[in-house]
Amino acid sequence: MQTIRRSKRRVTEEFPIVGFEKLSLVDYPGKLCATLHTPGCNFRCPYCYQKKLIFDYIPMKKILVDEIIKVIHPRIGFLDGVTVTGGEPTIHRALPTLLARLKSIGALTKIDTNGSHPNILKILIKNNLINYVAMDIKAPFERYQELVQYKIDSNTILDSIQTIRRGHIDYEFRTTVVPNIINEKDLQAIAIMLAGSKKMVLQKFRPRDTLSEECSKLVPYSDNEMHQFKELVSPYFAEVKVRLW
Ligand code: SF4
Repeated sequence: MQTIRRSKRRVTEEFPIVGFEKLSLVDYPGKLCATLHTPGCNFRCPYCYQKKLIFDYIPMKKILVDEIIKVIHPRIGFLDGVTVTGGEPTIHRALPTLLARLKSIGALTKIDTNGSHPNILKILIKNNLINYVAMDIKAPFERYQELVQYKIDSNTILDSIQTIRRGHIDYEFRTTVVPNIINEKDLQAIAIMLAGSKKMVLQKFRPRDTLSEECSKLVPYSDNEMHQFKELVSPYFAEVKVRLW
């Protein structure tokens, strides 16, 4: 923690936050939270709708952490915590410092991650800097690189999964179920990969302005199909949820 404290002033001034929602009812399960958006991502998922955050964030106005703390601090009590989402938050070296700052004002902290930096997750968990992690599971291990368009060893993803499961924190794994990309067989393989985990969330894909133009034309799985997928993977988890929004 010493390194984190020593560099707090410099890093909190520089931490790139490009979006700030003062109240979210949906980003932190069961809690009211504020949400911070960080720019940049190492992955290139074809169905990603965060095009701007990935390619065009350099000119975006950065919001100072001090300004955010000033707004959030008096609301703690009404707000339970803060979600830090991306892009991909773990690509930013200052993430532990930001989270330490949020914890110091009494906020519960949650991050959304693609699981590409297990060592950062280990630091966050070891130093009690996060209360909840939501990790995206993009595909079965053997299809990971093909899907995320990034050279990543499946052992890295496995390391993140194991770190989260052993971490004594709340967590969920979640998969966006994209037609033509993720099918029943893939979901079965993902369920086997994660078998015994506490919580799995299947997210319905919504076509928007996606990285790949083809994805923006896809017809999403129906709500009924999403519930059938839930039935398929339910035996592997303590809890399975379907997110249709
Ligand atoms: S990991 Fe998330 S932010 Fe990054 S490209 Fe994939 S969907 Fe987009």
